[in-house]
Amino acid sequence: MDFDLSNEDQEFVTQFRRFCDKEIGPAAAEADLKEEIPRDHYKKLGAVGYNGLLHKREFGGQEATYFQATLAQIVLSEYCGSTFFSVGASCGLFGGPVARYANPALARNILPGLLRGETIGCLAVTEPDTGSDVSAIRCKATRSGDGYVLNGQKTYITNAPICDFALVLARLETGEGAGSLTCFVVDTSRPGVVHGKPMKKMGLRASPTGELFFENCKLDPEAIVGRPGQGFRMVMETFQQERLALSAYCTGVMQACFDHSRRYSKERKAFGRPIAKHQSVAFMLADMKTKLEASYLLLMETAWLMDRQRELSSGGKLKAKLMHNGCDIDVAARASEAKLLSSTYAREVANLAVQLHGGAGFMEEFPVARLYRDVKIAEIGGGTSEIQKQIVAHAEIKRVRD
Ligand SMILES: Cc1cc2nc3c(=O)[nH]c(=O)nc-3n(C[C@H](O)[C@H](O)[C@H](O)COP(=O)(O)OP(=O)(O)OC[C@H]3O[C@@H](n4cnc5c(N)ncnc54)[C@H](O)[C@@H]3O)c2cc1C
Repeated sequence: MDFDLSNEDQEFVTQFRRFCDKEIGPAAAEADLKEEIPRDHYKKLGAVGYNGLLHKREFGGQEATYFQATLAQIVLSEYCGSTFFSVGASCGLFGGPVARYANPALARNILPGLLRGETIGCLAVTEPDTGSDVSAIRCKATRSGDGYVLNGQKTYITNAPICDFALVLARLETGEGAGSLTCFVVDTSRPGVVHGKPMKKMGLRASPTGELFFENCKLDPEAIVGRPGQGFRMVMETFQQERLALSAYCTGVMQACFDHSRRYSKERKAFGRPIAKHQSVAFMLADMKTKLEASYLLLMETAWLMDRQRELSSGGKLKAKLMHNGCDIDVAARASEAKLLSSTYAREVANLAVQLHGGAGFMEEFPVARLYRDVKIAEIGGGTSEIQKQIVAHAEIKRVRD
């Protein structure tokens, strides 16, 4: 694979960084304090093309590669984790499966406004009694005439307090296990939907997280996304993309932590010289940089593999295998490896950044404090690190058996 950026990619990243420097960065600390992302940021990110990077042109998207989208995600994450999460939940977690599987008329109706940042979506999987074990979802969809009636509760959902649409994973009344799980698009202004209040969190405070309650919420037949029973697979496919994006988030956080730390270590003096001249501080920088580079490489290779996988599937060769050194590659497991590695490293790097700043690192006026609080989520959301290890181990054990 080739890590060189084309002139076009380089230009896009430079322009996008300029935009983030001007619009996102200066507002990040206040958004965290107010626990709210400025609403026009969704629209501005739509206008510069970020929201629709991975979407088709017919919906207002850019049809970028995963490689290109990942580069932009790294940049946004350097400036504001909350914005990265809320926009990702809306356009990726919600918008992605809707674009691929929803009724085409419904998708054409919803997606352009979503990508312009005028409306907001969320993916509602987690429930009070089940998170990691997605197959145990209890939210219920009952047939009623041509349509369905939805009952249940979702929790810890990014954007739930402010969303216009939710993609809800529910169990068809007749079934058990993962095979009866089905996704529905719900317009949350419908009768029978209640938004919970934003929950208080240790990090990502500007990205609203909360509950959704469904009480006899009537859904039209078009609300079903894909076929009955396809929901579990759809959510797992979406999680693979989320894991790549979360790895980009972690890499962006590491880059920001490193940049702030390098600058501070040259400015701050202790014992008559810049702290960078003390070997233990310089070694912190070396550890941070090495972890950042290792994450970047695994992340970009995974993005590149996902692009190859997408090319093969769009050519109708769904069964075609990606090979490396004579072995087939499990791309979903590779995305889990990328998230596992970069979320572990990002927590360690953010910790080093706070340590390197001394007392200043504990103060909210320095961005490393927010980066440290925010990045913990990456070891939990999109499947915990323990679940990523299960996925990676399972893929490898299966390979030996084969
Ligand atoms: C800020 C935030 C935003 C979120 N946004 C969304 C969203 O937009 N949509 C959504 O649907 N969900 C969302 N979530 C929920 C998130 O996906 C879940 O919290 C996560 O999947 C873990 O589920 P859980 O909290 O139920 O933990 P549990 O499943 O109860 O796990 C608790 C502990 O047990 C471990 N564990 C569980 N099962 C196993 C196992 N088989 N082997 C080893 N260890 C295991 C876990 O790793 C963890 O350490 C969000 C969560 C947060 C905090």
